[in-house]
Amino acid sequence: MQKPLDRRNFLKLTATGAAGGFLAGAGTVRAASTDDDAGTKEGIIHRTLGRTGLKVPVVNLGVMRVDNPRIVNMALDGGMTLLDTAHGYQNGRNEAMLGELLENRPRDSYYLATKVNPRREVLTVDQFIGMFEISLERLKMEYVDILYLHGQSSREGTLHENYLEALTRLRDQGKARFLGVTTHSNEAEVIRAAVEGGIYDVVCTAYNFRMEQFTELKKAIAEAAGAGLGVIAMKTMAGVYWDSERKDPINTRAALKFALQNENIHTSIPGVTAFHELEDNFEVNKDITLNDEELRDLRMDTSQGGLFCMGCEECLDQCPHNLPIPDFMRTFMYAYGYRDLSLARSTMDSLALCGDACESCDGCHVTCTQGFNVAQKIKDIDRLRHVPSDFLA
Ligand code: SF4
Ligand code: SF4
Repeated sequence: MQKPLDRRNFLKLTATGAAGGFLAGAGTVRAASTDDDAGTKEGIIHRTLGRTGLKVPVVNLGVMRVDNPRIVNMALDGGMTLLDTAHGYQNGRNEAMLGELLENRPRDSYYLATKVNPRREVLTVDQFIGMFEISLERLKMEYVDILYLHGQSSREGTLHENYLEALTRLRDQGKARFLGVTTHSNEAEVIRAAVEGGIYDVVCTAYNFRMEQFTELKKAIAEAAGAGLGVIAMKTMAGVYWDSERKDPINTRAALKFALQNENIHTSIPGVTAFHELEDNFEVNKDITLNDEELRDLRMDTSQGGLFCMGCEECLDQCPHNLPIPDFMRTFMYAYGYRDLSLARSTMDSLALCGDACESCDGCHVTCTQGFNVAQKIKDIDRLRHVPSDFLA
């Protein structure tokens, strides 16, 4: 029987080149590692990330929009242990920043997760591995703790043979301890595919109070947790603002607490850009109690849509030009909710679009379940594709 693999043994195996084959292959469920906490601070609420055995605070750091390394240092010093980045964030600068600053920290004092993001076309095995090798170089690391297949919205994509092979190969080479998949739309299908796939240890899914009525999503999350997968919530702040003018902020502390009421969510990775946001998240790490006033702030009894696209995909079949409408809506949220034009632009670039969106349409008959004026938002955000990227960096 395979012996549970703790972190110390992983490092030893990797260092001696004996990592190949130390974990079971696709289609098997591996035992949880034990005693793997990267150092826990007193007073912080921790949960175990499924069968990975990683014991992590309920709130960690989404590094996606961080450009000040002091924020990362403050997060780690404040007891957060999981840092979440991606190959494409800030055109690679995000991983490079982490590579620089993490050089000065013991490798077993934090967990690092990164993602490889296929564009609209399917990557070959070699392309996927090549992108990840670049990430490792930027990070100046021999391995990452979690490697994700990023941004999936279907069972087909999640279980594509190229990705399963690339991921498994990298894990067996000791370059990724655990494998995961992330999803911003059609989440329930992706999560169930992750369980089915056998190689995935973690799912990272959009999940927030706006999605409370998505019973299938909650069921899929429970199934994944029950099957031993670690479940990480992202997009917990639902776009940060209720309005694109940014006059009406969401109570983000309440939003984060709300997501964590679901015990099948093991941790969260909210993105921050300011120290005071991090301070807020530190507080939530110590107390996730959601009081009545905070619950009222979340306006659960209204149909106010805010900026967050639910990823329900009800709009997709309605557009004769097959535009990736949920991706446009997410880009709109990055631009107006997060005020991060660079992220919005790189997300738009990843869609690999040709020509101006909606240009050839006389009228839009797409109905959004959230009441978004889809055509108007697309027209607005599509202007960003004409701005040179270096203006936005
Ligand atoms: S206006 Fe845009 S979103 Fe609406 S149907 Fe035409 S291409 Fe699709
Ligand atoms: S119908 Fe609306 S909420 Fe649902 S995916 Fe489309 S844009 Fe998003």
